[in-house]
Amino acid sequence: MQVETTDAALDELRHALAAARRAVVFTGAGISTESGIPDFRSPGGIWERTRPIDFREFVESPAARRAYWTRKFEGHEAITSARPNRGHAAVAELVRRGTARAVITQNIDGLHQKAGVPAEHVIELHGNTTYAACLECGAHHALDPIREAFLASGALPVCRACGGLVKPATISFGQAMPVEAMRRAHDESQACDLFLCVGSSLVVHPAAGLPVIAKRSGARLVILNRDPTDLDAIADQVLNREIGDTLAGAVAGAGP
Ligand code: ZN
Repeated sequence: MQVETTDAALDELRHALAAARRAVVFTGAGISTESGIPDFRSPGGIWERTRPIDFREFVESPAARRAYWTRKFEGHEAITSARPNRGHAAVAELVRRGTARAVITQNIDGLHQKAGVPAEHVIELHGNTTYAACLECGAHHALDPIREAFLASGALPVCRACGGLVKPATISFGQAMPVEAMRRAHDESQACDLFLCVGSSLVVHPAAGLPVIAKRSGARLVILNRDPTDLDAIADQVLNREIGDTLAGAVAGAGP
């Protein structure tokens, strides 16, 4: 698809990006579907076919942990082989230029970091599925050795540092939201002058409250999503378009 360059809505987004001194980019599943990552919450998505294993089951039941890891490694290849798309590249460019201070994401695929956004600028509200972490001490664990041991002998991983349970570093149903990430997301939303929502239907709370915080604090609110969202009514601009093309077009024309 060709990028449209004479387009009033795209021009408006370009101007907003050019004027921004401290932008936040907030992303949801829609930015990663073009990289082949399924939207788990969408109709026909995995969550309609398979009941998620919640956090309490994981902690209490070795059988649930076994089922969890089995599913995890069935979908492992789709995540590890996924590559960032034009949308991710455009977001990375905004961070590189200093336009965006923070990328707040509901995604767990690590594609913003793969696209070149330094990890310290990415705030992951739902964790990250590309590695595992100890539930006791927080130590990170690479997935490949866990996978090898699990496939070879069914071994469930425990922390080499403290013996605690090891789980993919995502936030499961029933698991507390990450306090530090939520605090940073709140602060960045309050301090920004442009809040750009990309590819999120803005229904999952507390994340969906962040655009409201930004708007109330005086930021311009722009929503780019294929479909309408619950917050369109309070947005300064809404673009219902393909994400990769639109972002690439807007960022290409908004350079210093
Ligand atoms: Zn540990």
